[in-house]
Amino acid sequence: MRILRATHLGMCFGVRDAITLALDHAAAGPLTILGDLVHNPTVLNTLESKGIAVAPDVAHAGTPTVMVTAHGTSERTLARTRALGLTVVDATCPLVHVAHRAVAALARDGYHVVIVGQRDHVEVRGLTGDLDRFDVVLEEDDVLALEEHPRLGVAAQTTQSAERVEHLVDLIRRRFSHSDVRFVDTVCKPTKERQSAAVEMARQADVVVVVGGRSSNNTRELVNTCARYARVHHVESDEDVRAEWFDAARVVGLTAGTSTPDEVIDRVEARIRLCAEASAGQLR
Ligand code: SF4
Repeated sequence: MRILRATHLGMCFGVRDAITLALDHAAAGPLTILGDLVHNPTVLNTLESKGIAVAPDVAHAGTPTVMVTAHGTSERTLARTRALGLTVVDATCPLVHVAHRAVAALARDGYHVVIVGQRDHVEVRGLTGDLDRFDVVLEEDDVLALEEHPRLGVAAQTTQSAERVEHLVDLIRRRFSHSDVRFVDTVCKPTKERQSAAVEMARQADVVVVVGGRSSNNTRELVNTCARYARVHHVESDEDVRAEWFDAARVVGLTAGTSTPDEVIDRVEARIRLCAEASAGQLR
């Protein structure tokens, strides 16, 4: 059995920088992160072990310094937080800032903003938090429920599947053929690289293991993408890997979401290798 790693996988620079920033600030004084810095239990456990608190919102923050996660937040929320006298450490990924600027420009130019993404995801709440009117779409039915506007400005959650975004934008254009539809592609480069590398890998694999947090959007997107080409198993750590998944598999593909640390991926790979050796031993 051969293990085939996707050429792009795992933690992106945005998440890596946010973790470094959190650890630097925690060394200087107490820090509360507002929401999950990343959707990965291993990373969250590490932060907790350094005494970093996590609170769902400012109302529950117990330290004078709070951190906005890599997913970003709205200007309104930032202003409300600062008005409470709290110091804000901003770990928003630069590529999320790009998406914020794109959305602000669409609204400023008179476009009704439509975001392709998950309505309740923290990044989408941040992208739409400064808008009075907007829509969020994720499925074709959401597009069918949209009202007509003379100008529609479409942007995407940075971790959405590029294919899904393209499809829904196309549907919006066809449905509102008399409207001026402007699309700004805000799916980030690391997400696109991981998605296309996952397709390339999954096409050659019998079984694919995707490593990442259960609530990580980009990990789920990788699972869905790979499932079109091979049997897929989503694991959070090496402890989730089961030997029977690899019976009769010649090629096992491996990829991971953008908040998965390298050491977690390495441990999963080692465990897959162990399973393969054990099953080869039984056949001998
Ligand atoms: S997934 Fe993309 S937007 Fe999100 S933190 Fe990573 S690089 Fe930034």
